[in-house]
Amino acid sequence: MKSKNDSDKTFQSIKDEIIDFVSKRDWKRLHNPVSLTEAIIVEAGELLELFLFRDSKEIEKEAKKDSELRERIEEELADVMIYALELAHHLDMDVSEIINKKLQKNSIKHPEVT
Ligand SMILES: [Mg+2]
Repeated sequence: MKSKNDSDKTFQSIKDEIIDFVSKRDWKRLHNPVSLTEAIIVEAGELLELFLFRDSKEIEKEAKKDSELRERIEEELADVMIYALELAHHLDMDVSEIINKKLQKNSIKHPEVT
């Protein structure tokens, strides 16, 4: 499924919004590569908690029907991605480049089955 906003925004513009948000709250002093990595793990745990002891197929169905569950998943997934993008900013990494490089590596490691 293609998303309109995903097509319109760049990783850089989203990173800029995150850095602006962090700066305006004086959180820069708290955010560093270690604390951001810890935050990614914490938020991934919060995402996982929503799925704990539940059947994967049922969650997929429920996430389409239950707007409250969908919103909770969206929020935790967003938290993970926000911290990941901020980490990339801190380490001066180009998000598109590192994702493309990793996908290329993965395609060699895991050849197509078709
Ligand atoms: Mg969270």
